[in-house]
Amino acid sequence: MPERTLGFLMSPSRVSRRMAALSVVALAASLAACGGSSDGANTNAGATATLAVLETTDLHFNVRSYDYFKLAEDKSYGFERTATLVRAARKEFANTLLVDNGDTIQGTALADYEATINPIGCTQQLAMYKAMGALGFDAGTLGNHEFNYGLPFLNQVLGGGLDVDGVDASKKCVGAGFPMVLANVTSNKTKKPLVQPYTLLERTLTAKGADGKEVKLPIKIGVIGFTTPGIMNWDKRYLEGKVTTQGAVEAANKYVPELRAKGADVVVALLHGGMDASAYTPSMENPGLYLSKVAGIDAMVMGHQHGVFPDTAATPSFNLAGVDHKAGTVNGVPAVMANSWGKSLGVVQLALQWDGAKWVVNKAASKSELRNIQGKNAAGATVFVDADPAIAPLIETQHQAAIQYVKTPIGQTDFRMSTLFADVGDPGAIQIVNQAQQAYVAAYLKASLPQYAQLPVLSVSAPFKSGFQGGADYTDVAVGPLAINNAADLYLYPNTVYAVKVNGGDIKNWLEASAKRFNQIDPAKTTEQQLISTFPGYNFDMFTTADVQYEIDVTQPVGSRIKKLTYLGKPIDAAQEFVIATNNYRATSGKSFIDKLDGSGTIWASPDANRDVVIEHIRKNPAVTRVANGAAKSWRFAKVAVAGPVVFSSGANALPVAQAAGLTHISLLAADDGSGKGTSKYGVDLSK
Ligand code: MN
Ligand code: MG
Repeated sequence: MPERTLGFLMSPSRVSRRMAALSVVALAASLAACGGSSDGANTNAGATATLAVLETTDLHFNVRSYDYFKLAEDKSYGFERTATLVRAARKEFANTLLVDNGDTIQGTALADYEATINPIGCTQQLAMYKAMGALGFDAGTLGNHEFNYGLPFLNQVLGGGLDVDGVDASKKCVGAGFPMVLANVTSNKTKKPLVQPYTLLERTLTAKGADGKEVKLPIKIGVIGFTTPGIMNWDKRYLEGKVTTQGAVEAANKYVPELRAKGADVVVALLHGGMDASAYTPSMENPGLYLSKVAGIDAMVMGHQHGVFPDTAATPSFNLAGVDHKAGTVNGVPAVMANSWGKSLGVVQLALQWDGAKWVVNKAASKSELRNIQGKNAAGATVFVDADPAIAPLIETQHQAAIQYVKTPIGQTDFRMSTLFADVGDPGAIQIVNQAQQAYVAAYLKASLPQYAQLPVLSVSAPFKSGFQGGADYTDVAVGPLAINNAADLYLYPNTVYAVKVNGGDIKNWLEASAKRFNQIDPAKTTEQQLISTFPGYNFDMFTTADVQYEIDVTQPVGSRIKKLTYLGKPIDAAQEFVIATNNYRATSGKSFIDKLDGSGTIWASPDANRDVVIEHIRKNPAVTRVANGAAKSWRFAKVAVAGPVVFSSGANALPVAQAAGLTHISLLAADDGSGKGTSKYGVDLSK
């Protein structure tokens, strides 16, 4: 077998040939060890090496630093820049292993284009894998999003071999270009792992001999992968009856000893999951704390949560027992979680010692870190790592095709959908988001969570763009065709849809928190008062449905402003239960709204982006109208006479937008409000 240096690619056929030959190799190695040959001069015992495990995770098909919704470059993410970090790490470390942790083939318009709009053929490589091929990955695992386009497509893009109902496993296609491993998903047809559970890579390490001289020594690196059992819910329509998931810990307990028995010097676990302090269950989404305790795992790369580990922030994101941000370890195991979209490269430096026959990991001398594509220069300005110029040309044709695709109309609107006056009552750009979220969650509960299907499903959303950065910082979709890229304007953030279970009392408190958007107005004051507080617009959650009605009394202090709150025309029952569709951000970090928004109220964490849900809703309901999609006002200001003017700023000279929304209580006071941000001053008559 030829010697190989790390970082180079093995073809899948080569991998299987190697796998077949391994048992023989392992046997030979163990015989050598039993032979008691421990002569340092001959065996190089005492040699040391560093193996740098490099992790990408949750790339989500962001090959380019490009926002397909805004149709503009965004240097804060993109594999073309992570690639530069990889190349730098390979210069720095003699021995590297490059692994991808999944959620790789879905997430951008380019991904949808290649999977569903103009599906690539068997002889064509997925653009994401083509780009990754420029660097040569050593191994990868599958995230939950790999299952989003169904098993036949996954089989094709992985090159074939998925022996499962409904799939032609014999189909040989181009494939990913690197071995994929997944230990905790089984094909119901074969009762075997859907994808090989692990791979054993044979490489040659450049080491430092006990005499200080460079020496080349062989190593066998086991790589094993795990995905989120949640795929069975999220992609139920594709997976039910076809595959079964196992817990990561159970799968590791089964296969890690196998890898060790086959002679793995080092075992690297690719966990498409993160960390969660709750008790272990086999269906656990983020079992990192428990997987790290499985004997025989030397390094663990994580993901799925789109988080960072180790985290150098003052208040680290994973503040859990066993997690050491300084050392970069989880229960003593060197670990990383490299953010998402290529924003960071995870680097685990495994310190290895050669005992004359095999490598032993010195965990205490190992360490891990993240390297980011965004940083600050000496002057404190934000700077970005340069893009690797080799990447973009590889996918340019498909990139341009995806841009054309996002410009393609999927519907049309008969009104200007804007947040210019969302703060004073225009639901014109928010209602369609609420309608899409409501329909999506209601359909899912009916199909998959029948225990909640009897509860009313409502939705809240907020004016994400509400002038914080000036007069142009508003959602503003013109009358006419609606294209996919307009969805970014309607939904600014890459959030995912979450459903939370609350009661009527919680709804009241949630709305009270949202109403912090307004300053307390003194009715007796004769001088001008600013209506809008510093509370961000993206936190001004609101309903936009005839079913829920309420008034906001801005003369009252925070916490006592929501009046006449009704559901279906009757005062809301504080004990009645509801399901509210919202986003992952609010559902998990909204404790300042109500306690249940710390994640504990979540009954469904969907895998789909709110933005994609809005796009799908428009596809199904392409004729968007003011009457049906932009006029449902759930709230109004409580009527009160104020002695002086109550004012707010919004986009320049936009009064016709307020009038078109039927807001008769708004007036233009000054074309230039004097802020220098391109905004006008408007008055609101709270007595109307
Ligand atoms: Mn992901
Ligand atoms: Mg994921």
